[in-house]
Amino acid sequence: NQEILLKKRPTGKPSLKDFEFADIEKPKPKDGEILLRTKFVSVDPYLRGRMRDEESYIPPFKVGEPIESGIIAEVVESNNKNFKKGEFVNGMLQWKKFQTSNGNGLNKVDNEKAPLKAYLGVLGLTGMTAYLGLKKIGKIQKGETLLVSGAAGAVGSIVGQIGKIKGCKVVGVAGTDEKIERITEKFGFDEGINYKTTKDMKKAIEKACPDGVDVYFDNVGGEMLDAALPNMNRYGRIINCGAISLYNETETQTGPRVEQYLIKNSLTMQGFIVRDYVKDFGPAQKRLAQWMEEDKLNYLETTVEGFENIPKAFLDLFEGKNKGKMIVVV
Ligand code: NDP
Repeated sequence: NQEILLKKRPTGKPSLKDFEFADIEKPKPKDGEILLRTKFVSVDPYLRGRMRDEESYIPPFKVGEPIESGIIAEVVESNNKNFKKGEFVNGMLQWKKFQTSNGNGLNKVDNEKAPLKAYLGVLGLTGMTAYLGLKKIGKIQKGETLLVSGAAGAVGSIVGQIGKIKGCKVVGVAGTDEKIERITEKFGFDEGINYKTTKDMKKAIEKACPDGVDVYFDNVGGEMLDAALPNMNRYGRIINCGAISLYNETETQTGPRVEQYLIKNSLTMQGFIVRDYVKDFGPAQKRLAQWMEEDKLNYLETTVEGFENIPKAFLDLFEGKNKGKMIVVV
């Protein structure tokens, strides 16, 4: 058996040196416990935040202890009447090949209904984030213009497609021409902007959104938000979902003042944490599954093979190496 520990807290961009592999014994499940074999591991940008020694909406990882993330695991032994050998579960689990659990916080997942990996992406927190962010804060309406950053990523690619289902004009921002082609050709976005090759993002957004932006789904923060704000329409809504452009910064970043835009156009800008909406997950998952069945919603995954590649897959998120949800297959 093996586990992956946080060796030290990263400064700036994380590196492989911040992680440590350890050989450990395969645990034996006690009464009421199950033994789990890790199958699919979700790596996510927000894990970077948990590597800082800062209280947040979720406690920080401890140095010298295993990292955890969303994992799909197989029940290989069971001393718990609620779980059978051969079933699959989804939950916050540790980066270990094998681990025991009393079953609390685990949800069973059915590989007959959807591929197991989908429960880490479109039918999991990724899909919930896209759907509920747009619904609860974006309050998106037919005919509006939706701008989304991180548009070829896990959350962004779902956001844009929901925008299209809702009858909006959708413009996505991502970091390579190949990604722009993907979101326009495969996912039906109306337009895409490559932020890495565009000098003036404010102008580029203005050009792509001649009627202005009604809803901005922000996954990246920083300069991209600065460029979006002056393009917002009256009563526009901004969903602050993520700020990946800032996650590795060591200094506090500054930029143009935002209040002038908020006041002038009566904008709403609201932070969003998907876990605040747990009670809405059931209906959201149902709706997303239905759109998938109707072939209105597609999803992309980048899969990386091997337990030993979990840290590398996590680091690759900050290099934009993933298209859609980044998942490690163990
Ligand atoms: P993604 O699949 O979007 O992967 C991250 C992507 O971010 C990369 O592929 C890369 O694409 C882009 N990126 C990396 N560095 C930068 C940068 N400096 N500037 C701009 N873009 C960058 O991840 P997720 O879909 O899982 O998450 C997207 C965002 O949503 C993250 O910020 C995450 O923290 C947040 N999130 C928030 C949740 C909440 O409850 N608030 C829940 C889930 C996610 P590119 O090639 O385009 O640069």
